[in-house]
Amino acid sequence: MPELPEVETTVRGLATMLDGETITRVSVRRPDLRRPFPPELAQVLTGARVTGLSRRAKYGLVHTNRAITMVFHLGMSGRWRIDPGEIAKHDHLVLETGHGHVLALNDARRFGSVDLVDTAALDAWPPFAALGPEPLGPGLTAAHLQRAFAGRIASIKLLLLDQRVVAGLGNIYVCEALHRARINPERAGGSVSLAALKRLVPEIRAVLEESIAAGGSTLRDYARPDGELGYFAKDWRVYGREGDPCACGGTVARVVQGGRSTFFCAGCQK
Ligand code: ZN
Repeated sequence: MPELPEVETTVRGLATMLDGETITRVSVRRPDLRRPFPPELAQVLTGARVTGLSRRAKYGLVHTNRAITMVFHLGMSGRWRIDPGEIAKHDHLVLETGHGHVLALNDARRFGSVDLVDTAALDAWPPFAALGPEPLGPGLTAAHLQRAFAGRIASIKLLLLDQRVVAGLGNIYVCEALHRARINPERAGGSVSLAALKRLVPEIRAVLEESIAAGGSTLRDYARPDGELGYFAKDWRVYGREGDPCACGGTVARVVQGGRSTFFCAGCQK
């Protein structure tokens, strides 16, 4: 599943093709993904100029000069294909730009989505309205986490996966950041000290930034020629490493929290 770093890499790659460009042709090749494409999608985007791209949580945003933003989510299997030689079966939305680039949104499992949102009302769009701060933005601070965790007996692992606390953090990144910050994932959120949260915030940023850097700086890196989704080859310190030695001399363990695997080392995570 594309996680925040993959979405960020996708947005940066798309920006190299789309930013400042006019969309000259829009082809909607089936009625829906997870939900229907907006019926006015082709009409709104055709002839529109892209004024910028950005990311919110795991959504990509394509802003236009028509005060409307196209918001996409890659779901489980979505990816953008750049200048494909020919349109493939699962290319459900195809955009052409004034410079002749072709961008195809390919989504075999169709858990993704495409929406049109008034740019001025993006913050109030229901999927965005309750989101917490961006993990790479200035809103994520130790003080924010301390407020969000105050009095909470839920584990810090599950609280960090709560999109209302921090937007867009996935399971891998939470496991890795907690290990790097030496915090036990089963600790009650409200019991974690401010000093520990001050260690955690930069580690959350570092693990995300390292993954973004590993994904390269262009969408051509992301949408690899073999057609595989661009999962980053990354040597995780604990994720997927049950039974492996930790650098501290301990052993990586796996527990299940909220129905999902947590990997951690009881030797160094307290
Ligand atoms: Zn350890």
